[in-house]
Amino acid sequence: ATVLVTGANGYIGVWICRILLENGYSVRGTVRAASKGDYLKKLFEKEGERFEYVIVKDITVDGAFDEAVKGVHAVVHTASPVTLKPQHPDALIKPAVIGTLSVLTSVDKYGADVGRVVMTSSSATFVEPHKDGYVYTEKDWNEYSVREVEEKGDKAAPMHVYRASKTLAERKAWDVEKEKKGNWDLVTILPPYVFGPLLQEVAGKDSLNASVQILYDAVLTPMTGEVLYQFMGSWVDVRDVALAHALALQKEEAGGERIIVSAGQLTWQDVYDALSSPSLDPPFPNAPKGTPSAQRKGMQFYSTEFCNKLFGIQFKGLGESARDTMFSVWDRD
Ligand code: NDP
Repeated sequence: ATVLVTGANGYIGVWICRILLENGYSVRGTVRAASKGDYLKKLFEKEGERFEYVIVKDITVDGAFDEAVKGVHAVVHTASPVTLKPQHPDALIKPAVIGTLSVLTSVDKYGADVGRVVMTSSSATFVEPHKDGYVYTEKDWNEYSVREVEEKGDKAAPMHVYRASKTLAERKAWDVEKEKKGNWDLVTILPPYVFGPLLQEVAGKDSLNASVQILYDAVLTPMTGEVLYQFMGSWVDVRDVALAHALALQKEEAGGERIIVSAGQLTWQDVYDALSSPSLDPPFPNAPKGTPSAQRKGMQFYSTEFCNKLFGIQFKGLGESARDTMFSVWDRD
């Protein structure tokens, strides 16, 4: 079977291509420029014709994926801007929402052989200001960030702009799915912060993908004070995220479902503790040693009950994931 992977050159996208190729699929990746496709073609050289790329310059153009979906049996849609740098909301929301609309419209019109679409959504689509101890499930939706952006426009916090882009994109996907004429169904994968080694092309240590950049910077310049024990989100390894996408294509019962894919919740001190034995050693600085009795604050939890039942993934631990991230970035220069 052939799978179309949008955003094939992204951090998560490349890992998805790799695991699909390892599982015997053929992959057609979409990228925005030939140089990005050539990098992948080289990376997957030994797969020969089983990996190909097509260029979709602008995913917001009507019919952008009309050609790309022809002849594929499934689609994995990962392409979407990921940044926490201040941006006009349109710069994120348009490609996220219109990009999703355009992939799914092309699938519905020209993807006669497509049985399933798996979309890389995010915990951004359900995280809201809730009480400490709150347990999120797939039933939760993030109305808060959408409202923030509606009310504050380009004054909204960058985190809410990103979260709104993902929430609105996933909503759009389910709306299109409801109105579909074709025989495909939809699965959305909802990961929190994704860590783990890089396969993608990176220009340098200051142009990493956003989630790896956050971890890398926090290890090189350790956090101090109150923030160390403050809940900062949940996390999952990129290899497990890629595996979840592959399983989402394979498990019939995944059809029509949102699926939270998470290895656990996180404070910065947890990251430093996980990296302390064995210690990372120079060039990495010593991270603050934890006080075992210190209380974690503001903890919230993302339920993986459904994911565990359906996929049974043995999630990688934080030590392994964080360590592999650091060494993989370090190796790139
Ligand atoms: P990357 O930035 O590494 O990859 C993003 C991909 O989307 C790249 O292929 C990029 O192409 C493409 N893209 C970005 N903006 C546009 C645009 N305007 N038009 C067309 N393509 C675009 O990020 P990740 O791999 O981390 O993210 C992939 C997906 O996973 C996203 O949907 C993201 O929301 C989701 N996700 C990520 C998490 C994380 O912690 N990393 C957590 C939860 C969800 P190009 O290289 O040409 O810019």
